[in-house]
Amino acid sequence: MNTEPLKSIAIIGGGTAGWMCAAALAKALQQSCAIRLVESDEIGTVGVGEATIPALHIFNDTLGLPEAEFVREVKGTFKLGIQFRNWARQGDSYFHGFGKLGHDYGPNPFHQLWIHQRLQGKAGDLADYSLHSVAAPQGRFMTSPTDAPVNSPLRDFPHAYHFDAGLYARYLRRYAEQRGVIRTEGRVVEVKLREPDGHIDAVVLQSGERVAAEFFIDCSGFRGLLIEEALHTGYVDWTHWLPCDRAIAVPCEKIGPAAPYTIATARAAGWQWRIPLQQRIGNGHVYCSRYLSEDEATTTLLANLDGRALAEPRLLKFTTGHRRKFWNRNCLAVGLASGFMEPLESTSIYLIQSGIGRFLNLLPDRRLSQTVIDRYNSQAIFEFERIRDFLILHYYENERDDAPFWKACANMSIPESLAENIALFRDSGRFFRNAEEMFAVTSWVQVMIGQRVMPQACHPAIYTMPDAEIEKVVQLTRQVVANCAATMPMHEQFIDRFCRAPAT
Ligand SMILES: Cc1cc2nc3c(=O)[nH]c(=O)nc-3n(C[C@H](O)[C@H](O)[C@H](O)COP(=O)(O)OP(=O)(O)OC[C@H]3O[C@@H](n4cnc5c(N)ncnc54)[C@H](O)[C@@H]3O)c2cc1C
Repeated sequence: MNTEPLKSIAIIGGGTAGWMCAAALAKALQQSCAIRLVESDEIGTVGVGEATIPALHIFNDTLGLPEAEFVREVKGTFKLGIQFRNWARQGDSYFHGFGKLGHDYGPNPFHQLWIHQRLQGKAGDLADYSLHSVAAPQGRFMTSPTDAPVNSPLRDFPHAYHFDAGLYARYLRRYAEQRGVIRTEGRVVEVKLREPDGHIDAVVLQSGERVAAEFFIDCSGFRGLLIEEALHTGYVDWTHWLPCDRAIAVPCEKIGPAAPYTIATARAAGWQWRIPLQQRIGNGHVYCSRYLSEDEATTTLLANLDGRALAEPRLLKFTTGHRRKFWNRNCLAVGLASGFMEPLESTSIYLIQSGIGRFLNLLPDRRLSQTVIDRYNSQAIFEFERIRDFLILHYYENERDDAPFWKACANMSIPESLAENIALFRDSGRFFRNAEEMFAVTSWVQVMIGQRVMPQACHPAIYTMPDAEIEKVVQLTRQVVANCAATMPMHEQFIDRFCRAPAT
């Protein structure tokens, strides 16, 4: 049995996924394995992907990328969460912040105290108890100070970024090439499979050059050049649960200071994103083509920009779901080649990162053991399914009666896993996070409440606390959060001091 480490890996595709893979493998494998990346300038990249979740800093920290340098390179801004407008009902607004809700009280999560008070009409909106939700709409931002007092909400204050994903890929390319990754520009025109096991032997470029490797990572985007076109892996289609299948994207001029949060505004048959970068605003309209035409979607998008459009609107088509196997034979699919869930909670770049982490944890040797491959696939499928459920929640729990799309969403049958979680939350505000899933309890709580899934009762253990004490804790939390937000600098000031990119 050949238990030696792999000696060669070829990455096909140089978008965000390809260069994140190249950088991470170069760092982790330290030139013990030859890494080659093939990309085609002529084909280009998907060219969107501007909002992230906080986990990205773990990826950057692992590579050793200083935060200020990274933010400057990608012309980034900071993101404390997402403001959802008009989702459960027209006129509603709620915030999914990336941090804590209040302070847990012994074994009781803060949201249980809040439910207790809210049911008695004594608590404000849930957002009032989260520093992220209070600071973001005021335009305030800072990173967690290392000397913050233990009880300060600033002590643990996670943030994500808005950025130009193309610049991120370029930044990582420099990093990867400095660490020995060989880049080949060229269009793959053929994938050679070998007998008898059907593994990929090599890809052939338009120039006639043959690129062989022991292992291939397919980062070729939606088409899945290796995983689908060559290996016919198959696709699990979730359109019946997440019906949006198109997006129109357009950048516009930046007017006023950059807000430290994404806005996701529900529209008649989908929603619109607004993502502020240092020098422009990224916008897009995600919609369901069964309910809205491309022209209508474009008109709505262009009518709702802050400033002048800076490019022609671009249409992107997608099918929500994932490959039946993320890893098939000697090919791992990462990024859009592996599957796609719409960008409502900014999870795609995170899924690239977690796919890379999982691959490094399950790094195969030359045997390419099926046990290792199966574990990768089951973990990846689980992760996708839990994010899928989280996204469906935003659509399903709506009370809108103004548009057929929203009525259809409210009437769809949902996965059992989600139905059970909604029922338990509605019963008594309880949610249990599996260790492998992405979104924390506080994320689910904020979206459940925001989508008007109001618990009928709190956890019975809350009644062991005197009423007056619960009321005091909840009121005090609100006050501490408000005071803390008032001490924070404005987001633009923070960028000026820390990581302003040169004007271009
Ligand atoms: C509408 C929309 C909005 C999004 N918003 C977000 C967001 O806010 N946050 C987030 O995290 N993610 C978002 N994403 C996802 C994000 O854009 C992608 O996950 C990310 O950019 C990774 O793309 P990729 O590298 O897999 O594919 P691509 O960018 O498509 O790159 C594919 C690469 O493969 C190469 N290639 C293809 N065919 C060949 C060939 N024959 N020969 C050689 N090379 C080839 C191309 O040249 C390119 O280099 C969004 C996606 C869409 C569609």
